[in-house]
Amino acid sequence: YAGPLEKVDETRWRIPRDYKPGMRVDGIIFANEALIESIRADMAPEQVANVAFLPGIQVASLAMPDIHWGYGFCIGGVCATDPSEGGVISPGGVGYDINCGVRLVKTNLTYSEVQPRLRELVRRLFQTIPAGVGRGGKYRFNPQETRRLMAEGPRFVVERDLGVPEDLLHTEALGRIEGADPDEVSDHAVRRGSEQCGTLGSGNHFLEVQVVDAIYDEAVAQVFGLEKNQVCVMIHSGSRGLGYQVCDDYLALFRGCPSKYGFTLPDRQLACAPAESPEGKRYIAAMRAAANFGFCNRQLLMHQAREVFAEVFGRSWQDLGMELLYDVAHNIAKLEEHIIDGKPKRVWVHRKGATRAFPAGHPEVPEAFRSVGQPVIIPGDMGRASWVLVGSAGSMSKSFGSTCHGAGRALSRTAAKAAASDRVVEKQLEAQGIIAMATSRGGLAEEQPQAYKNVDAVVEVVHQADLSRKVARMRPIGVIKG
Ligand code: 5GP
Ligand code: MN
Ligand code: MN
Repeated sequence: YAGPLEKVDETRWRIPRDYKPGMRVDGIIFANEALIESIRADMAPEQVANVAFLPGIQVASLAMPDIHWGYGFCIGGVCATDPSEGGVISPGGVGYDINCGVRLVKTNLTYSEVQPRLRELVRRLFQTIPAGVGRGGKYRFNPQETRRLMAEGPRFVVERDLGVPEDLLHTEALGRIEGADPDEVSDHAVRRGSEQCGTLGSGNHFLEVQVVDAIYDEAVAQVFGLEKNQVCVMIHSGSRGLGYQVCDDYLALFRGCPSKYGFTLPDRQLACAPAESPEGKRYIAAMRAAANFGFCNRQLLMHQAREVFAEVFGRSWQDLGMELLYDVAHNIAKLEEHIIDGKPKRVWVHRKGATRAFPAGHPEVPEAFRSVGQPVIIPGDMGRASWVLVGSAGSMSKSFGSTCHGAGRALSRTAAKAAASDRVVEKQLEAQGIIAMATSRGGLAEEQPQAYKNVDAVVEVVHQADLSRKVARMRPIGVIKG
């Protein structure tokens, strides 16, 4: 990236709106001195500037410190558009994997209790949880049932004893985003989803056994029920082929929208439509339906993990304390109220590789956490760390209630594969006491720790910027990958 990046303060860099004619607002990238160098070396800042062209965009086009190149919008991007000013909705600003997200499941087991059974545990998880490109699972829903999953979210599966009502209370939007319309989802997308609910998928998706390595905020950790040496399970997956197909279908529908509605974009991949237009409304209804399916997918992944733990440790999952801490989406657009220029406005907040980080007192934070803020779950990589943060007040004034979603890629898949083979990565992890298993060839190599930025550095920025604060650092001990 050769354009301007002006330091605003210790955690923010600006791309001024006069960089390119057509930018309606500035770009702002959250980073520190160390991270900004690698960010500058990538073309993602150009994408931050391009997003600033979107009709109705408010305040600034934002990016989190885990920013990297993505389809149209960068990963780590956040923008808000005002529908009353012709503000648009953009599938590229949500991402292909609609409602990709993470959930963290607690246990009452400690590291020393799990360590002797770790290999058996990881092997059983690997055998049980379907993973890999296009792979189906043991739960089969016919098209009618798949449409109900999209309309009702995980309540539908909880009513079939694949979870408990408390799970819903600990899921963003209670696992059911209002306004979903499964009839706006194509039959092809439904067919792709009907066999894939409860499957991990490929690539960066994972199920990981982790240990709480350090607590940074005792009071909040207590509210979250986290303590040092506790074993947890982190699950990262999205809406599988269903969400992908929805994105594809609507990108095709939106192709003609810029000329129809009279605006121009610097990149075709930013295809979008006014949120209040017929096309915009249809995508919103379909995107919400796919998002509800994504919550169902993670619910069924958790259910299978609970069953495996129960079998391996010979106690029920309830006995093992396997409660859901929280489930967060990191690829989604939501209609939210934010204070802009001193006035409350309803805006479409696009989070593409960004996590909601609502602070204490926000009405959408579940009651159990309302006094401290919502749990924010940040995967890092399979060899170093992941984090639990808590939403903080700065997010409301600086980032439309958002924070980072991960460490962010540092190496391309090709570069990562050239750096080390699957076998070498597996051995290196094993030497650190981490057992890793992957379905696809090249899977471990592409996803090796070095392929990602250091998550501790990324988290440091969002903590300093007061978007979200550190609560607990988790280290991996067992990983299954697609
Ligand atoms: P994305 O949603 O952009 O695909 O990935 C989110 C983040 O997950 C990445 O930026 C990366 O930091 C993290 N991640 C990818 N693979 C793994 C893994 O195997 N284990 C952990 N803990 N984090 C991972
Ligand atoms: Mn993701
Ligand atoms: Mn995903």
